[in-house]
Amino acid sequence: MNEQIICQILEEADIEYKTKGKNVGENTVNVCCPFCGDTNYHLGIFKDGGNFNCWVCQKTGNLQYLVYVITGDRITIPESNQYLPEGATEDLGDYVKKILKPKVKVISKSRTTTLPEGFQYITELTNNNRVLNYLEGRGVDRIFAQKMGIGYTDHLVKKNRFLIVFPITENKKVVGWVGRDYTGMTTKRHVIPGEFDIHDYLYNFDNIPVNGKVIVCEGPFDALTLIRKNLGYTPVAVLTSGLGKQQINKLIEKKPHTVITCLDSEMTFKNIAYAEYLTCFVPWVGWVGLPKGEDPDSFKGNILEQVHWIKTS
Ligand SMILES: [Zn+2]
Repeated sequence: MNEQIICQILEEADIEYKTKGKNVGENTVNVCCPFCGDTNYHLGIFKDGGNFNCWVCQKTGNLQYLVYVITGDRITIPESNQYLPEGATEDLGDYVKKILKPKVKVISKSRTTTLPEGFQYITELTNNNRVLNYLEGRGVDRIFAQKMGIGYTDHLVKKNRFLIVFPITENKKVVGWVGRDYTGMTTKRHVIPGEFDIHDYLYNFDNIPVNGKVIVCEGPFDALTLIRKNLGYTPVAVLTSGLGKQQINKLIEKKPHTVITCLDSEMTFKNIAYAEYLTCFVPWVGWVGLPKGEDPDSFKGNILEQVHWIKTS
């Protein structure tokens, strides 16, 4: 990166900057620091590399992160295109912007999601064999199900019946849930309650340690499989096929040291795009390339051997 590119990016983002004058170093382009409320251009962006440092509050990071903090917009720099997967016709930067664009305007609304009617946690007294057998078939025994707070509904309710229910919690409070049919008889295998905006939450979020290592997968069963593999990474499930804006924000709040994306194999392009995007915020980033047709739940090999690192710093 050089001065010209940095200035161009700042101009496109409508951010005022100085290339000389008071508080401006020889090797930097300076802006007012958004982190400490500085108004005198104390934040310098290094012409070589594009990382920044605020002389007042010592905040550091890279240009993408800075633009995001000031404007709320995500940008990709031209160099990112080196990770464009083979055969891809779309520019990766555009692709990332597109997938991160929220489908609806994010309005903060009060969450009143409760667990479905008839919900029961799995306990040592649970004797619904269909439920227990289904879970067992996915490698989840009763003790593990109890530990993970998994529950179910049965035939006694009219709506949302016959579901394995995964409560989604934040700070130990239930904020939503997703359900999976355990009979194989209904047309709707996955159930997401309408009042719950799934793109705002991550399954297993509460277990992410600050400065930890995180592996991002798709579904709750993928997360459970990865937990059992004891990889040294905390699995979180995005619950759909991609990461939403709020999910990324929440992930970043935990200041993860390392994130690897492990979405299902048909999603390799997305997998790389999200990983590429996360390099703006996370020191170590990689993506997992599983063989065609495999997902984390089915893959028998060592997932960590399949990681393609795109940032190690
Ligand atoms: Zn500052």
